[in-house]
Amino acid sequence: MVKTRFAPSPTGYLHLGNARTAIFSYLFARHNGGEFVLRIEDTDRERSRREYEEMLLKDLEWLGMEWDEFYRQSERFDIYREYVEKLLQSGHAYPCFCTPEELEEERKEAQKRGVAYRYSGKCRALSPDEVESLKREGKSFTIRFRVPEGEEVVFEDLVKGYISINADDFGDFVIVRSDGSPTYNFVVVVDDALMGITHVVRGEDHIPNTPKQILIYRALGFEVPRFAHLPVILGEDRSKLSKRHGAVSVKNYREEGFLPEALFNYLCLLGWSPPGSEREIFSKEELIGLFDLKDVNSAPAVFNRDKLRWMNGVYIREVVSLERLYEAILPFLESAGYDVSDEDYVRKVLERTRDAYDTFTEAVEKLRPFFVDEVDISPEFWGRLEDMRSYEVLSAFVAKLEGRDIDTPEDVKALAKEIQKELGVKPKEIWHSLRIALTGQLEGVGIDVLLSTLPKERIIRRIARVLERFS
Ligand code: GLU
Repeated sequence: MVKTRFAPSPTGYLHLGNARTAIFSYLFARHNGGEFVLRIEDTDRERSRREYEEMLLKDLEWLGMEWDEFYRQSERFDIYREYVEKLLQSGHAYPCFCTPEELEEERKEAQKRGVAYRYSGKCRALSPDEVESLKREGKSFTIRFRVPEGEEVVFEDLVKGYISINADDFGDFVIVRSDGSPTYNFVVVVDDALMGITHVVRGEDHIPNTPKQILIYRALGFEVPRFAHLPVILGEDRSKLSKRHGAVSVKNYREEGFLPEALFNYLCLLGWSPPGSEREIFSKEELIGLFDLKDVNSAPAVFNRDKLRWMNGVYIREVVSLERLYEAILPFLESAGYDVSDEDYVRKVLERTRDAYDTFTEAVEKLRPFFVDEVDISPEFWGRLEDMRSYEVLSAFVAKLEGRDIDTPEDVKALAKEIQKELGVKPKEIWHSLRIALTGQLEGVGIDVLLSTLPKERIIRRIARVLERFS
């Protein structure tokens, strides 16, 4: 059975790149009828924070991911200790008493000679007696993995193809720090092996770690899983996507009013597309049916915010149901202070305006005239009202509303036609007068849509207030 995992470190908000890793890992498991594990890698006590973990879970849930098993590395230290012991027993690991100063010396020396640094192996040959006496002296030590000299580690990556790295490039590396905490390269192997992970899907920044991990798998007699290293995501300027490019965390997009369905769909297309298809809009179920790691592009993907926005707009307009839209947008309308107590009215507004915005923050702006009682009219727009025959137009409009309903944009247009004929004004004067009086703006949702949706008393009240202000 296929089993994959997502293994974030809770040291910050969920980055779009990590979210994509999580999604690919999840889709691959589900596509193969397998299982998906969420593992919080919080062994770095200084940088890990519970609130980041909570936020990670929230973001992943929001994106629609479910996991079959959940682990936290900080709760597994006893297990790691047991495996460190095994490596020490079998001679695959040894204590190293070199001080940070000594190591710094070695590093400087390597720099001087212009060669890549690797540990000299000074403590490799300490005898058990020497180790005992150094420990008795209270000397602090790390534990290093004994890397076989000159070994060429080769693996077939499911995305990148064959990768070969010589063990001499990295040398004996630390698996337990001097404070007793185990390091990433070690615990990741113990966990992936004990959890039965068959496919390790992660970012390509982990390629240099993979040979180290493979050596540990072998030393512990574990089966080596398959690896799939995903290419980085770049910004429009072709540098690695980072804060410099604007919003890069899932939280940013959640708060800006993107639909998780759209973000999920968009992230899938960063480096993957179904073979032989130009299609871009897919439901999660369809993605589960189609996704395969072999179709992941080995070249970097470029994140395009405009495209994501566009896709979000498509989801709002065409993909999600009105009910889903209602439920997702409601918190945004509420926090803007809009009165949403009349659910039927809110649904009616949403049904008629879903082509007007691409995100919910944009919706909050565009839908303001549907929800507030009074709108601000800038001095410039007042000037325009006074230049046009607005007083007459607006008075005529209110008069015509007596005993008559305008339920559709067509009703509004018919009414405007009558005014145009009777007063001999230009259509533009009518539409601009109404628009400024009702919204305080010249752009936005169609005024015919607004007028046919807003309750009549509210239209009359709003126009009356404007009429009062004419001198
Ligand atoms: N905790 C690691 C990270 O966040 C996970 C690496 C891995 O998937 O092996 O980069």
